[in-house]
Amino acid sequence: QKNDRESMLALNKYAQGYFSNILHHSPEGKNVGMTYFHERGFREDIIKKFQLGYSLDQRDAFSAEALGKGYKKEFLVKTGLSIERDGGKIYDRFWGRVMFPVHTLSGNVIAFGGRILKKDEKAAKYVNSPESEIYHKSNELYGIFFAKQSIVKHDRCFLVEGYTDVISMHQSGVENVVASSGTSLTKGQIRMIHRFTENVTVIYDGDAAGIKASIRGIDMLLEEGLNIKVVLLPPGEDPDSFAKSQNASDFIAYIDAHQSDFIRFKTGLLLEEAGKDPIKRAALIGDLVRSIAIIPSSIIRSVYVKECSSLLDVDEKLLIAEIDKVHLAKH
Ligand code: ATP
Ligand code: MN
Ligand code: MN
Ligand code: MN
Repeated sequence: QKNDRESMLALNKYAQGYFSNILHHSPEGKNVGMTYFHERGFREDIIKKFQLGYSLDQRDAFSAEALGKGYKKEFLVKTGLSIERDGGKIYDRFWGRVMFPVHTLSGNVIAFGGRILKKDEKAAKYVNSPESEIYHKSNELYGIFFAKQSIVKHDRCFLVEGYTDVISMHQSGVENVVASSGTSLTKGQIRMIHRFTENVTVIYDGDAAGIKASIRGIDMLLEEGLNIKVVLLPPGEDPDSFAKSQNASDFIAYIDAHQSDFIRFKTGLLLEEAGKDPIKRAALIGDLVRSIAIIPSSIIRSVYVKECSSLLDVDEKLLIAEIDKVHLAKH
């Protein structure tokens, strides 16, 4: 329904302005929200550019204000900004959190992420808007609106995990960056990147979860015919912390020096895992064969076959035969 969508977009736009206004002008917003951003080292211009905000630490401050301005309860609930409780009263989804609006490719606000300020074991670190008529999480990339021109200009896209990674990289001058927001990559997200470039460098957090996540999403990138490099940051770092410690040219120099081709990266990781165990090595070869088999270009496939045959000490012909089997099974 076209009118529903428009009402929801208008409400999200209003909400973005409301949360930013609270951050910049209310005493609690300034003392709590702005202090949080400053302590994280976010500059004023970046806070404005990304339209960051703050939600007051009350259960229905936003909902009451929006209703008072004439926004309908129906859309407050449909956008997920408010949650309806027994008896029909609505409460805010986001309260006492710093707010990150999520923009579409064309700059409309379709969702929010809200981050808790204090370390609190009970509450989730981030609360996000639910799926809705205007927000299909799996088809969106955080930061794409602010990154698209720079992606085209550099013919390259950095892919990171979180909101703050995107923001800190912009702050240090690296603007061709988007985040998958903690979920594994989807086809829709990959196609969106492919509209602007074929070159993707994945920079995931330097922890076990980051490494696993980089391997999971990436077979899909290969299938789309993209060139993929992977960088693991030093342990304990994420792109946010890492970008804070240096300027754009140092950051990119580090990435360029430490990035590895995805297949090579995956081979190294799997080899380490398998050790000398022959059964595990066989499984590893099967896994790599599947990754290579989905690459659309036969020329690039043959380059990888050569490389993997020497890395794994397996005959090239055998690898080719296995890849052909995967192809036969598919077609
Ligand atoms: P920060 O630097 O503020 O701690 P981060 O981006 O480093 O944030 P991660 O724990 O690395 O946080 O998570 C990466 C991304 O995953 C987040 O930016 C957010 O989009 C999503 N995320 C993390 N925790 C949650 C959660 N509890 N619920 C929903 N999404 C989450
Ligand atoms: Mn292409
Ligand atoms: Mn992180
Ligand atoms: Mn972080």
